[in-house]
Amino acid sequence: MNVHEYQAKELLAKFGVGIPAGIAALTVEEAVAAAKQLPGPLYVVKAQIHAGGRGKGKFKELPADAKGGVRLAKSIEEVESFAQEMLGNTLVTVQTGEAGKQVNRLYVTDGVDIAKEYYLSLVVDRATGRVALIVSTEGGMDIEEVAHATPEKITTITIDPAQGFMPHHGRAVGFALNLSGDLNKQAAKIAQQLYTAFVALDCDMLEINPLVETKDGKLLVLDTKMSFDSNALYRHPDVVALRDETEEDPAEIEASKYDLAYIKLDGDIGCMVNGAGLAMATMDIIKLNGMFPANFLDVGGGANKEKVTAAFKLILSDPAVKGILVNIFGGIMKCDIIAEGIVAAAKEVNLQVPLVVRLEGTNVQAGKDILANSGLPIVPANDLGDAAKKIVAEVQKVA
Ligand code: GDP
Ligand code: MG
Repeated sequence: MNVHEYQAKELLAKFGVGIPAGIAALTVEEAVAAAKQLPGPLYVVKAQIHAGGRGKGKFKELPADAKGGVRLAKSIEEVESFAQEMLGNTLVTVQTGEAGKQVNRLYVTDGVDIAKEYYLSLVVDRATGRVALIVSTEGGMDIEEVAHATPEKITTITIDPAQGFMPHHGRAVGFALNLSGDLNKQAAKIAQQLYTAFVALDCDMLEINPLVETKDGKLLVLDTKMSFDSNALYRHPDVVALRDETEEDPAEIEASKYDLAYIKLDGDIGCMVNGAGLAMATMDIIKLNGMFPANFLDVGGGANKEKVTAAFKLILSDPAVKGILVNIFGGIMKCDIIAEGIVAAAKEVNLQVPLVVRLEGTNVQAGKDILANSGLPIVPANDLGDAAKKIVAEVQKVA
């Protein structure tokens, strides 16, 4: 789960992390009122969307030379006109894809006099099983580009979870950022605060880009992206309350109600599969046969009739879907039970597109018999390759 920049900063502030003063706003009036509460004379009006690269982004509705989603305002009047230009409009950044994201919230912050921009992030490093602190002197710009062109400018420091954050980790951060004296001490402290927040909030990613040194010698978090381990959200009702469903795909929200792992994709073959690995393999083999999957959908190990029906409805809610491929391995859940679920779901949703089903595993013959005797035009398949060929052929037959 992701949150907005202002929400992440408010969470970090509770751990003592220095952030510029700021107030979120949903309307132009609120943005103006927010600016009036800030010291001025420099303000920053920041589009709040769940995507980075806002500064260099472009608004679809504005002329091509208009500025992006992070703007420095030198007066309350400028805050007002920037808020007017941004709210309700669609911001396209390198991270939003071509469709862009509608800006429904702004964050009006106190403008900071920047001396230097740094990069600092924390992620769970699966290779070492530790939290990794990634730091670089090259903050503010595209860190992927830095990693590619000048990887020596990025330092990774991993932290043993049993030991936790030690003073030497803090010194290593200050050293990697080339800081000395008081700034070095501030870097060590902020790294410790960020690590503490990361662990306490069960984050899976916390990125500060940029971490800035102000002209008066302070380190502040100027921009942050924070995402949380969804398996740990039950421990953090306060974090769950920050969820902004307007930022999420409606079908993905519906899927989460049924505990289905669903991700919408651009192709036209809907997939219903159990197990993430099998779902990936199914997507691959559809591509191998010349078409593209319309979604990733893992119904999980214990798929029952309700889940299968919900999954069918989800797939069919996507108007791009021209055919469905069901690929289920009956292990814990037997094939005959799954077949009954498929037949019931197909009848309930009044299926209009070709459906190819490949079942394998426990009670497979009983399952196939149920499909064959259902009276529905379900095309059975024997293996994964056969299934992919058949769904592609069926869809092309209709087209
Ligand atoms: P992003 O484009 O989505 O990563 O948004 P950021 O919040 O990182 O802002 C982009 C850039 O705008 C930063 O790297 C800064 O250079 C600049 N910026 C943001 N806030 C301020 C500020 O308070 N003062 C100044 N001078 N520049 C800022
Ligand atoms: Mg940034």
